Amino acid sequence: MLDIRTIREQADAVQDAADRKGLELDVGALIRADEERRNRMGVVEQLRAERNACARQVAQLAKEGRHEEAEVVKQEASRRNVTLAREEELLKQVEAEYEELMLYVPNFYSPDTPIGASDADNVEVRRVGEQPQFEYAAKDHVALGEELGLIDLERGVKIAGSRHYVLQGAGQLLHRAVQQLALDLLADEGYTLFEVPMMAREETFYKTGFFPAGKDQAYALEGEKALLAGTAEVPLVALYGDEVLDLHEPLRLGAASSCFRSEVGKAGKDVHGLYRVHQFAKVEQVVICQANEALAEQMLQQILGNAERLLQLLELPYRVVAVCTGDLSQKNYKQYDVETWMPSRGQYGETHSASSLLDFQARRSRIRYRDEEGKLRFAYTLNNTMVATPRILIPLLENHQREDGSIHIPEALRPYMRGLQELR
Ligand code: AMP
Repeated sequence: MLDIRTIREQADAVQDAADRKGLELDVGALIRADEERRNRMGVVEQLRAERNACARQVAQLAKEGRHEEAEVVKQEASRRNVTLAREEELLKQVEAEYEELMLYVPNFYSPDTPIGASDADNVEVRRVGEQPQFEYAAKDHVALGEELGLIDLERGVKIAGSRHYVLQGAGQLLHRAVQQLALDLLADEGYTLFEVPMMAREETFYKTGFFPAGKDQAYALEGEKALLAGTAEVPLVALYGDEVLDLHEPLRLGAASSCFRSEVGKAGKDVHGLYRVHQFAKVEQVVICQANEALAEQMLQQILGNAERLLQLLELPYRVVAVCTGDLSQKNYKQYDVETWMPSRGQYGETHSASSLLDFQARRSRIRYRDEEGKLRFAYTLNNTMVATPRILIPLLENHQREDGSIHIPEALRPYMRGLQELR
């Protein structure tokens, strides 16, 4: 959420952000709704003041025994009350319209965000690691996983439908191992780790900036007031909603969780294997810090660096891309994606998204702190994937396969693999 004063003062920049992000928003209509809301508020306040003055006058006249005059004033007051009720109703309507429009206002984009229409216009920042050259017919993760008894897609679909999977034996171990390695790296960096609810109230999704834009991605539970969250960013940010925090040091928060996504609108896209599924596990990083752009940039580079360190420990080739305006979500100010080399796709595939939101999310969630002058300010928030699995199993299995069908396990994962040195 942006402040309405900022929207009024920088209406063109807000409209530009909406247009460049491909969002439908008429900033002029929002500003008109705000003007009408403020005008109507003035009228209502005036009528309320008059009503109160009348009430005082009636009491005074009654006290003085001037009952006939009191009666006249009373009648006048009840006529005004009808007008007041009508004006209050109109104010309620225009406030609802204003609040609805406010929910669609995007965050600005940073000056260094590339301008572009879609992910095809994202700009590569760096490549790290060598893509493997196979001198034999390399297999994809599904073939490798099924042959080694790690992945069972058929039974996943039998249990739950399309885009579901089963991991078993060493496959399940690998899935857990990457998460535990990710959590341990975060703990080493001083992160506080959480176990959080992945069912959340609808208002929690609004307050963290996921709704209304992402409403169709969340599974609603029949008979429940809560919905299933698609990322632990929702509960991790909501932890401190409506609180005043001590942010002398940035808060670094991490959680491993199941994530649920309907993937509506992705029919026919990425249907092969483990790339796009309805339920996956993710270790997420969230940072909450003081409202300082230089600090936010430093934090963004740190959370990006944490993910890169993990990929280096997994011995995987990857690249970092600066996400362009057309691929930037409503709430993000600046974003890097990390894409890991996936041999079967013949391309880098997104495995991580690191985002800086300035105070957009904290303003909706009312997460505040006191600055040096004691003034209450909204905090800045950032987030990044640390690891998401089973998607990361695609590059892990495919890049580390050997000609004999076995799979190399990176050194850093071995302590979590119950003594396994390789998969065969
Ligand atoms: P996001 O929270 O949308 O930025 O996603 C973070 C990461 O979660 C992505 O980079 C993927 O690695 C993973 N991910 C997101 N959606 C899915 C999905 N439907 N299936 C598997 N992994 C996913």
